[in-house]
Amino acid sequence: MSILVVGSVALDSVKTPFGEKSDILGGSATYFSYSASFFMPPGKINLVAVVGNDFPEEHLELLKSKKINLKGLQILEGQTFRWSGCYEGDMNEAKTLTTCLNVFETFKPEIPDSYRNTEYVFLANIDPDLQMDVLSQIKKPKLVAADSMNLWIKIKKQSFIKLLSKIDILVINDGEARIFTEQSSLIKAGKIILDRGPKYIVIKKGEHGSLLFSKKGVFSAPAYPLEKISDPTGAGDTFAGGFFGYLAKLNKTPNESNLRKAIIYGSVMASFNVEDFSLERMKRLTYKEIRNRYKKFKEITSF
Ligand code: AMP
Repeated sequence: MSILVVGSVALDSVKTPFGEKSDILGGSATYFSYSASFFMPPGKINLVAVVGNDFPEEHLELLKSKKINLKGLQILEGQTFRWSGCYEGDMNEAKTLTTCLNVFETFKPEIPDSYRNTEYVFLANIDPDLQMDVLSQIKKPKLVAADSMNLWIKIKKQSFIKLLSKIDILVINDGEARIFTEQSSLIKAGKIILDRGPKYIVIKKGEHGSLLFSKKGVFSAPAYPLEKISDPTGAGDTFAGGFFGYLAKLNKTPNESNLRKAIIYGSVMASFNVEDFSLERMKRLTYKEIRNRYKKFKEITSF
């Protein structure tokens, strides 16, 4: 089995109460693929994105070292997508300072022939029309999940609604779910989105955990309790990488039980990612640490 991910590969500038870093590796597809790579055999993650010719070689080497396929990564003349944001007080929500689309502005995802049979498809946060375009290029996906963000939900609501009817799982955060459904109750929001088509909805609530909605009901998981969060950037995408990577590794039709485990793996991966800036903590991470934190998660939620 293999995973295809389409999304952003970026250079981020981030300020948190614990420091300030410029032009560090970021992007939704970057965080997702790096996180999912812990669950997949080598060479089974197909990345689709675009960067400019200013993108540092060392970042490409890092992704290659995790055996992530970069055949679908376009390197175009121009500057890489740049995002800058800061966190003050509430570490759950980034305040976006600037977004420079650069080569991302005219990005037209091209799916290499060797990617077209990918079974597990993750449409990370990009324009919903592009997400649909990518999906139409995949022959027979077994499982399709998607993420989105406020911007697209606001300016491309109809495309987003169309996308919902074509995917199995939607992974979004609480603020986005509220904006889309115009409901303050997340339970109501989850149900409304389920009615739009996806079989499962995952609503991420930052340090307050996540909710899984299905026709059978709701599962609620806490976030792993951490004393210090250095940089929350990429937590959502890292969560999605662990969640989807675990499901792809199982390679079975997801059921309630394995979706719940996938949520916990997602939470474990996100909890590591926020311990340092960019992918610094993920670079030092071992599968043994993931297993140990998964076990601890069980202990702290059992009663
Ligand atoms: P999150 O997991 O939600 O914290 O996502 C963080 C990543 O999203 C950062 O590394 C940014 O580079 C990336 N990002 C921010 N804005 C956008 C956007 N409009 N489109 C795609 N990616 C973005």
